Amino acid sequence: MTSPMYDVVVVGAGPAGSAAAITAARAGARVALIERGIYPGAKSVYGGVMYLKVLDRILPKWREEIPFERWITKRQTMVLNGSTSVTLIYHDENWGQDPYNGVTCLRSNFDSWLASKAQMEGVDLITATTVVDVKFQKEPSAPVLGVILSNSDHAVGCKSVILAEGALSLLADRLGLSSPNKSQHLTLGVKEVLKLDAATINERFGVTYDQGVDIEILGGLSPLVGGAFLYTNRDTISVGAIVSLESLKRHQVRAEHALEQIKLHPSIKPLIKFSTQVEYLAHLIPEGGWQDRGTLMDQGVYVAGDAASSTLAAGMWLEGVNYAIEMGITAGEHAVRYAKGDSVGDASRLYQDAVKRSFVGKNLKKLRYAPEVMLSEPIQRTLPIVLNKSIGSLFTVTDPLPKPGVTKAIFSAIKEAHVAVVPTVKALLKTIWSFK
Ligand SMILES: Cc1cc2nc3c(=O)[nH]c(=O)nc-3n(C[C@H](O)[C@H](O)[C@H](O)COP(=O)(O)OP(=O)(O)OC[C@H]3O[C@@H](n4cnc5c(N)ncnc54)[C@H](O)[C@@H]3O)c2cc1C
Repeated sequence: MTSPMYDVVVVGAGPAGSAAAITAARAGARVALIERGIYPGAKSVYGGVMYLKVLDRILPKWREEIPFERWITKRQTMVLNGSTSVTLIYHDENWGQDPYNGVTCLRSNFDSWLASKAQMEGVDLITATTVVDVKFQKEPSAPVLGVILSNSDHAVGCKSVILAEGALSLLADRLGLSSPNKSQHLTLGVKEVLKLDAATINERFGVTYDQGVDIEILGGLSPLVGGAFLYTNRDTISVGAIVSLESLKRHQVRAEHALEQIKLHPSIKPLIKFSTQVEYLAHLIPEGGWQDRGTLMDQGVYVAGDAASSTLAAGMWLEGVNYAIEMGITAGEHAVRYAKGDSVGDASRLYQDAVKRSFVGKNLKKLRYAPEVMLSEPIQRTLPIVLNKSIGSLFTVTDPLPKPGVTKAIFSAIKEAHVAVVPTVKALLKTIWSFK
């Protein structure tokens, strides 16, 4: 039998796929990276902020090289209710310097850059073609034969495949590797990119040249449940809403409606005033995390990134790119070992163990109840009301009446939210526990 053309074929040139391809090629494998878009990033959708310390492992000079927009120096959590809001702001000028923290990047630029790094390692990047199937041999010791592309009748031969195809994970579903519950935990993200000149952004958000702001938003989406975000790029703003599919179905409301509500809120509207829409995007997010990871490896096929539900969606944290990269690196390392002769059983166990030991496995496991808690009634409805009403009542001067005091302000707000005290306190404790 002739030797296959590649040791490893990676499906999808998103963050997981390119990181996997770089890692596998460096370990001496012949690698193909196949992307259905006309270039890497052409089909990518995300909110806008990345945490890239994970790249130190494969590209230690990334800080000088990435096509970035702004380094995040202000993180805010804004809780909306009616026409009011309460905002927690954390400002750290040091985040604007090496080693940095978060960074806004446009995915078309970032994904192309990361894939170009794979090409520099000798990876064959094949674009504008979709992998439609994976072919298997009969013998269990060398199961993968290759992949079938949408524009060719011939299989591209390989010894192992990494599925880094993102949230929809059609191939992983077809091969029975996805969790059967994944679709129950999908949310839909809709996002607009709004053009606004850099000087206006700097003035409005209180930042300078390459400093940026990350605002995570809770509340303001009623009757839908979910969250929203606003991030500053160099001369654009990304504003979006992420809503549960279940609530969209239940209320028969479109996700765009939720985004419009956010844009019209008195605390958001002035931030985006006089901007013009340049892009409108929508995409699914797999929020099930650890419980929805499915089968991570079988018969020489590895699953990495959002295809394995690796995004951490836990309210104050929306991190998918760094998790996808870490899982891609791990899949790249292990797929090479498998291509060089590890048995299926060993390889599967070794990959699953490595993912479990990484920050991806540890954080997703630790925070496994957080996504559900964040979408629950007490967080989505009660918290925004109680927080806004109690802070509002404390900050409103009541002369000639005496001030209400903190406890009275909180209990009156709980009463106004029409919820009982005991369940509210229980929900609060559950939330704290799920973030422990
Ligand atoms: C609205 C929204 C906001 C988000 N905000 C953030 C954020 O601010 N920060 C953050 O870190 N994460 C965020 N995320 C999550 C983040 O986008 C994902 O976690 C990350 O993109 C996952 O990377 P990936 O490589 O696994 O998949 P993807 O980025 O989805 O890449 C998959 C690639 O595979 C290609 N592909 C798919 N199927 C095939 C096929 N059969 N053949 C060939 N190519 C194929 C696709 O075209 C794509 O290029 C957000 C997601 C959404 C939807």
